[in-house]
Amino acid sequence: MRRSALPLLDERLRGTKFVTLQSKSVLNSPEQTGMDFWSLNPYVGCEFGCTYCYARYAHRYVVERAHHAGKLSDADFTDFRGPNGWEAFERRIFVKEQILGVLETDLRRFFRSARPATRSCDTIVIGTATDPYQPAERRFRITRAVLERLARCEGLSLGLITKSPLVARDASLLAEIQRRHDLEVHVSLITLDVALIRALEARSPMPAVRLRALKRLTDAGVNAGLIVAPVLPGITDDAPRLAALFQAARAAGARFLTASPLRLYPGIRDRFLPVLDEHFPHLARRYRQAYACRGAAPHDYAQALSRRIRKLQLKWGFPVWHMADRYEKRRPAPQRELPL
Ligand code: SF4
Repeated sequence: MRRSALPLLDERLRGTKFVTLQSKSVLNSPEQTGMDFWSLNPYVGCEFGCTYCYARYAHRYVVERAHHAGKLSDADFTDFRGPNGWEAFERRIFVKEQILGVLETDLRRFFRSARPATRSCDTIVIGTATDPYQPAERRFRITRAVLERLARCEGLSLGLITKSPLVARDASLLAEIQRRHDLEVHVSLITLDVALIRALEARSPMPAVRLRALKRLTDAGVNAGLIVAPVLPGITDDAPRLAALFQAARAAGARFLTASPLRLYPGIRDRFLPVLDEHFPHLARRYRQAYACRGAAPHDYAQALSRRIRKLQLKWGFPVWHMADRYEKRRPAPQRELPL
């Protein structure tokens, strides 16, 4: 049998494969991604398989590049892409095995980009496109290696987003990092409703398990909180469901709770809309209308949700802020005169 040109690291019984990905760069700048911060993702693809996940495009991009570079044959390309273009995101996981050497170069680039006036750097967020503590991390320990390297720097602003209880494995390392850096760990959970979680997230950990992990982090003194993203219009946005999340976060010692509405970009529609048709047929037409021309939630809806969250943040004694405002974007100073 012909082998894939990408080295196979491991394979699960249910068919998930883990392959090496050699990257020239692992720290993505705001200019590269259009996000307000630098980002780092130790894996591409995610076994948790959330139906609303917007990161499927990143996997597709890596697969297309590997095919273009001759590392994937046409047959492998179909296998790594999946028949509908999204399934392989959950079954073909790229592992950035040799990350540390590349990270050294990228850190030099990162520090060179520090703001001249203050010498301060932008935030680095780990886990913007795939979960850094997905099951693969138990074996490959790439996220831990990155954190150990970052722990040797001074005064960074760091964020980390995960749905996985495996993050609690690194509670003491994260507490140590926090002593030298500004750190926020966001444990991600969209609802306490177990049936809903199973309908929307193929293999993610159960809510109680995530909340226990959050408690272990906060007990260890880590600045950790809950991120409720995406909030699904008409499904998880009612006040009682959101209030239950605030209450659970408070019980787990969360230092903050943020929330943001669903973004439904073209690459997600094929995966998410059939799930909506199956479980929430009464909402399917409204979603298609609301997100017809744009990926972001309609402005009025986003504003109303933001007001609801703010009210709950005040009620439960959490700081009032929004994930999108958290990390200031490095914008060039406004030009007051036309250059000659
Ligand atoms: S855990 Fe995060 S990265 Fe993984 S599938 Fe779910 S939303 Fe995507």
